[in-house]
Amino acid sequence: MSWRNLLADSLTSADAVKRRFPAADTRGIEEAARQYPMRINPYYWGLVKDIDDPLWRQAVPSSLELKDVVCEADPLAEEALSPVANLVHKYPDRVLFLVSSQCAMYCRFCTRKRKVGTAEMVIDDATIALGLDYIRRTPAVRDVLLSGGDPLLLSDERLEWILAEVRAIPHVDIIRIGTRVPCVLPMRVSQRLCTMLKRYHPLYINTHFNHPAELTAEAASACGRLADAGISLGCQTVLLRGVNDSPEVIKELLRGLLRMRVRPYYLFQGDMTRGTDHFRTRIETGLTIMKSLIGHVSGMAVPHFALDAPGGGGKIPLLPDYVIERGERLVFKNYCGEICSYPDGY
Ligand SMILES: *Cc1c(COP(=O)(O)O)cnc(C)c1O
Ligand code: SF4
Repeated sequence: MSWRNLLADSLTSADAVKRRFPAADTRGIEEAARQYPMRINPYYWGLVKDIDDPLWRQAVPSSLELKDVVCEADPLAEEALSPVANLVHKYPDRVLFLVSSQCAMYCRFCTRKRKVGTAEMVIDDATIALGLDYIRRTPAVRDVLLSGGDPLLLSDERLEWILAEVRAIPHVDIIRIGTRVPCVLPMRVSQRLCTMLKRYHPLYINTHFNHPAELTAEAASACGRLADAGISLGCQTVLLRGVNDSPEVIKELLRGLLRMRVRPYYLFQGDMTRGTDHFRTRIETGLTIMKSLIGHVSGMAVPHFALDAPGGGGKIPLLPDYVIERGERLVFKNYCGEICSYPDGY
């Protein structure tokens, strides 16, 4: 079945969930889906095994989304940091360019839940032209991140139009695509798409896997095709309560990603996005996970743990503390907890 047909067969209501899981909280699903869009394509739905399992929690709407009284619609102040609609310019040398309003699944924890998949998010030729124009007249921009929504939900032709326009801008060094498609709809990554993408190097893709159960044979072949097109693959995982908030699960995920030729890039603390408070973990949980990784697993598997600062302050790296004492001698603990020191005074 083609990826478009799979997408068209997506679950968009509680009824379809109930048919497979009669015990599901149909009313909660319906209420949440009225507020935030629901789309679970048949591929991802096939990976869900049980009510409230880690994949269910990412995909199926929950009444908890409506009980969040703590978080904000746009916690990273993206709208305020957008010089033109759908282009966020926060850091000096790079921009986040939102080129698609659609995703292959609407993740319940999405940071852009306020608009992704809704009528609020208007992306058309005119908004894309304005974004391209902004990049053209802003020579400080060296790195363009295409995101959305999911850029790989665009047709090959439309995506190629955007890539060609960005690539033609002399001051743009690299292009990145942020996409969850290799995880949630890997069959979209066709050989034709990869052949097109490789014409726009240097091109990087950061994908998004959150749980080892997402590392299927299909996902592995999608990543393999992209890697064979010379595209370096990174992964931006989000720490999610009840989904992946343990050292064992994260370790298995990161090792599996490396086997699929994907290099873990970020491990994100959950943003304070309205409707996602039930997913948030303590910062301490992430630090404990980082301690369980650093030194214990291949350094290639270790991502940067970061918090995107509320208000749009940018990503703050969070690291476990290894230094116990500074001064003439630097005293520190190694990954096993042994005390060591280094003479640092002259
Ligand atoms: C995350 C992000 C980037 C990219 O940050 P890197 O640390 O370079 O990956 C750029 N712009 C915005 C608005 C972002 O949120
Ligand atoms: S794929 Fe990304 S943008 Fe789309 S719903 Fe999921 S987290 Fe949000």
